[in-house]
Amino acid sequence: MMSKKNVAKILKAPRGTEDVLPGDWQLWRAVEETAREVFELAGYYEIRTPVFEDTNLFVRSIGEVTDIVEKEMYTFKDGDSSGITLRPESTASVMRAYVEYEIYKTKKFQKFYYIGPMFRKERPQAGRLRQFHQMGIEAIGADDPMLDAEAIIVAMRMYDKLGLPGCKVKINSIGCKECRPGYREVLKEQLIKNSENLCELCNTRMNRNVLRVLDCKNEKCKEVTAVVPDIREHICECCKSSFDGLIDILSASNIGYVIEPHLVRGLDYYTKTVFEITHPSLGARDTICAGGRYDYLVSDIGGPETGAVGFAAGIEASMLALKNSMSEMSDSTKQRLFDIKEPAPDVYIVSIGSECRRASFLLTNSLRGEGISVDMDYEDRSPKAQMRTANKLKVNFVAVIGQDEIDNGTVKLKNMQTSDENVLEKAKVAEFIKKLLLNK
Ligand SMILES: [Zn+2]
Ligand SMILES: [Zn+2]
Repeated sequence: MMSKKNVAKILKAPRGTEDVLPGDWQLWRAVEETAREVFELAGYYEIRTPVFEDTNLFVRSIGEVTDIVEKEMYTFKDGDSSGITLRPESTASVMRAYVEYEIYKTKKFQKFYYIGPMFRKERPQAGRLRQFHQMGIEAIGADDPMLDAEAIIVAMRMYDKLGLPGCKVKINSIGCKECRPGYREVLKEQLIKNSENLCELCNTRMNRNVLRVLDCKNEKCKEVTAVVPDIREHICECCKSSFDGLIDILSASNIGYVIEPHLVRGLDYYTKTVFEITHPSLGARDTICAGGRYDYLVSDIGGPETGAVGFAAGIEASMLALKNSMSEMSDSTKQRLFDIKEPAPDVYIVSIGSECRRASFLLTNSLRGEGISVDMDYEDRSPKAQMRTANKLKVNFVAVIGQDEIDNGTVKLKNMQTSDENVLEKAKVAEFIKKLLLNK
């Protein structure tokens, strides 16, 4: 028996992180594969950027006085550099690549998608993840509001294909450099009159990022902002025509939407269109996808002046919405998303005695080379125990290798459905199995 002091302390995954264990992968794969399929169908191509970037990239793009940059970034000193940061989101990284490699020189208009982990120092006790995953698209190089509509439609098509009922689209315009400063002033004027009714955070936001007061979840703040002027009465002609263009296309495409005048984003780089897709099963934090247009981002990080639009969908939030909606799903959707299929080989190789295991291993690998799924015992168990495993796995064939088979260069193959047994030349086993599997 092991003495107590020799037992190593079990190390745990860091707070705010999750493992995808063998029983969990099916939903992950279904979500990711559906996203890829839908994104590629709309002409978006995959881009993979590093999980860490120069800290300045996020400070310049997301904005210095945002929650993300002020409180939530994992930033490290790295030698003499100004510091690196684990990416809190991917849009800035995609834009950085677009600018750094001058991708716009060959073709200004480009469409990309990404799927991967993001990192924010969230409070884990609130059930929030510090490593979470997003899948998103970016269309760079055009101002056309049809692209804003495309982003929303692509996201909705993804949820539709996944079989998620009940998604809601919320849209708003937050104006541009021309018109937003004017609205900020109007808003500030109104809010200052009621500052004693606003929460502490909103009082600091008033001077730094006044639009964020609009989406404060505090009930008292909501009462104050319920009566402030609507931003759409203050946006310029250019922003207005862009928003009208978006609405026209969404309506013509039969996408239901709600105009939500208090919808703003926590990142500075947004302009004109912002949108969110929410799911009612998620309670207070019901956003599963968020995006919008960011027409200054590319030029802000040193590229040409050009429009861009995109979204990021939260994989964990989307999966939670899917799990919550199981009772409304068809059986085939449920099966596709949740029925875990254990890896099940077609053939199991049973060795009669330890000295035959080498030959079994070589047969296993040669059959795999022929594209047949095969497994064998690696624990040197008795033939009886090996047969039990074969039965449990419900394999189609058991191949028996004993000393006779090794001496004669043969394999005894048992068809588990018909109980037929055949002694076959080793070289002919693969062909024999493939023929039967095809006719199954
Ligand atoms: Zn404007
Ligand atoms: Zn507030």
